[in-house]
Amino acid sequence: MTTVSWVESSRDGGFGIENLPYGVFSRPGELPRVGVAIGDRVLDLAEMSAAGLVEDRHYFASGSLNAFMVAGRAAWRANRERVTELLTDESYRGRVEPHLIPVANVQVRKPFEVADYADFYSSEHHAANAGRIMRPDAAPLPPNWKHMPVAYHGRAGTVYPSGTPIIRPSGQRRAKGDPEPSFGPSRRLDFEAEVGFVVGVPSPAGRGVPTAAFRDHVFGFVLVNDWSARDLQRWESQPLGPFLGKSFATSVSSWVVPVAALEPARVPPPVQDPAPLPYLRCEEPWGLDLHLEVLINGRVAARPEFASMYWTSPQQLAHATVNGAPLRTGDLFASGTVSGPERGQRGCMLELSWDGQEPLLLDDGTERTYLEDGDTVTLRAQAPGAGGSRIALGEVTGTVHPAPA
Ligand code: CA
Repeated sequence: MTTVSWVESSRDGGFGIENLPYGVFSRPGELPRVGVAIGDRVLDLAEMSAAGLVEDRHYFASGSLNAFMVAGRAAWRANRERVTELLTDESYRGRVEPHLIPVANVQVRKPFEVADYADFYSSEHHAANAGRIMRPDAAPLPPNWKHMPVAYHGRAGTVYPSGTPIIRPSGQRRAKGDPEPSFGPSRRLDFEAEVGFVVGVPSPAGRGVPTAAFRDHVFGFVLVNDWSARDLQRWESQPLGPFLGKSFATSVSSWVVPVAALEPARVPPPVQDPAPLPYLRCEEPWGLDLHLEVLINGRVAARPEFASMYWTSPQQLAHATVNGAPLRTGDLFASGTVSGPERGQRGCMLELSWDGQEPLLLDDGTERTYLEDGDTVTLRAQAPGAGGSRIALGEVTGTVHPAPA
């Protein structure tokens, strides 16, 4: 079924009627409110509810998506259907159009309040490359890797909206050959191109969330840049996982794409061998045909394919809760660096430059091993949508600023 919106700008680009992603925005002198992006406009849902055009139980004027996210799948579906109706039925145009604001005229804000943040490590190509670089004398994949989606817990308080400046972190680092550690700004600052999902509906303590219940809990998907200081990370992660090498900043995209918009992008994930334990089995294919693009200063650095991820989102959610840890509204789970088998599909500089040994040449003639002050990293992604459309995940961007003197 194809639906056509009367919003002209919705027909090109990836913010068409098949997408309808949610975000939070404000205009000068107004409180932040929830909106839906359509073409180059944002539909003001707070005003729409005040005008009686959409149902609202104080979800949309609250300044974050969390109140609506906790409302659950029936409310998400009802609002999506209503917004689709309003933006396709010409007879509503006169009443709806006053509430469509050019995105260029608003400030787009952090879409939701993050409760907890965990980051997986679910690309086999990334995990194997990182293993070869970090532990050259060991097998590329640790023995647990094909039995569970491995992850670390990140820091929710430093998850920032797209566009937030990234200040180069300082810390301890000890390079190969250094007799002692030293302190100073990271010399190996990196990005990680990832896809995340955010939880709407909580789960009770003591009860795992089965893979089949993914849609009952998860509100939508965002792009994530898990900024990483490789020198800090390598020295501190012995024997525990990343800490200061990651916790200084994580960036998320502005528009949360509903799970429903990505249904047409579902594809079979890679074959899992050995077969995972029963709690990780998934009846439905939950690979996602998402095409990512990494740009450094506007030049394409890599094009990772999300469909190559070994562990899928429902498996990650089932694993994260199988010990009885409850889900909270706003929990953010990221996929881990998305890397494919080819060099041009690697989702971080650690792999793209092989830890600095093979500089990456950009098409403006500049070379990079790791990120330099002033560099802007932008992640974008798109997927196939309903009726032959294209679903954009928007973008997440950040510019590296020097460490304070
Ligand atoms: Ca990561």
